[in-house]
Amino acid sequence: MAGLYVHIPFCKKRCLYCDFYSTTLLGRQEEYVAALCKEIKARKDEAGEPIRTIYIGGGTPSTLKAEDIARLLQTIGTQGAEEITMELNPGDAMEEYLRRIREAGVNRLSMGVQSFQDELLRFIGRRHNAQQAIDAVHMAQKAGFENISIDLMYALPGQTMAQWKADIETALGLGVQHISSYGLMYEDGTALTQMRDRGEIEPIDEETENAMYDYLCERLKEAGVEHYEVSNFALPGYEAKHNSSYWDGTPYIGVGAGAHSYIGNVRSWNPDDIEAYMAGIERGDLVRESETLSEKDLYNERIMLGLRTKKGILVSDVDVRNANEMVTRMRGKNPLLRVTEDGRLVATQKGIHVLNRIIEELMI
Ligand code: SF4
Repeated sequence: MAGLYVHIPFCKKRCLYCDFYSTTLLGRQEEYVAALCKEIKARKDEAGEPIRTIYIGGGTPSTLKAEDIARLLQTIGTQGAEEITMELNPGDAMEEYLRRIREAGVNRLSMGVQSFQDELLRFIGRRHNAQQAIDAVHMAQKAGFENISIDLMYALPGQTMAQWKADIETALGLGVQHISSYGLMYEDGTALTQMRDRGEIEPIDEETENAMYDYLCERLKEAGVEHYEVSNFALPGYEAKHNSSYWDGTPYIGVGAGAHSYIGNVRSWNPDDIEAYMAGIERGDLVRESETLSEKDLYNERIMLGLRTKKGILVSDVDVRNANEMVTRMRGKNPLLRVTEDGRLVATQKGIHVLNRIIEELMI
């Protein structure tokens, strides 16, 4: 079974912290959707396996009209697809729109809520407010969506622990099935990073960031929301199937500007520019760059992705040069890793705080 990712690189405005490629030229959408349909027709059978999950991500897919979403899904063919996710900006939620994308086949929404604090939303440049986010979830539930994920951000400059706790309670009160949560990152070249470098904002200290993350994990666990990946939490049975396939090596086809595909041991990607992408599709000679992953790359990827999940990695899969010494060292008094009864290596809560370092040490 394979996954299909559709990239919609349009945003109405740019957020302060974002380093993803996207454009605010919404006038190019019609032509872009036509190019996507051509690429989908040409490539949808490329993995040689039926498509089980579809993910329409961005950018902001909800800047597209509902009929464009329907057209994309018709071109893909949704028979047999168990999970069809679409990312939605809470500022775009309207009852009629939600009803129409639901009818088109979307059965899971991923909403970029980020915070329920208006001043923080304004600061990071989001175009919705807290009430719109709450209304968006209610509208989606009314439209029949029974699988809703929201994104929440922590470690925002000026964010207090009390605000973070209140955000988590609001999220839990909404009855969503899935929460993805990320600490704010200062990526190179973003407006946010420039503000930090000019001393205009003060990042949250590491200790507070870790405390926010630990509180999130504890509170969600207490509420029965399972922590199945470092940044992802779900009610039982609602783990994101599409994203899980990225972590377990399932093949996926990515269509659209900048979209990545992974089939066999080959990773390939489209040009990260809508004009180059559309021109290539129009001419019928879109050049996709690619790389074949070596045994070493595949091993490193297994370590990197596996250790982020609650399943971890098989101890027997870890390179023997690293395994014994690492496992012994990290299983000391305050263990960073633990070995499960079925022989898997899993990061502890303390280990998650330094996961990148652990991964680096285990990679070859
Ligand atoms: S809406 Fe999403 S993709 Fe667009 S600028 Fe904001 S964070 Fe980036």
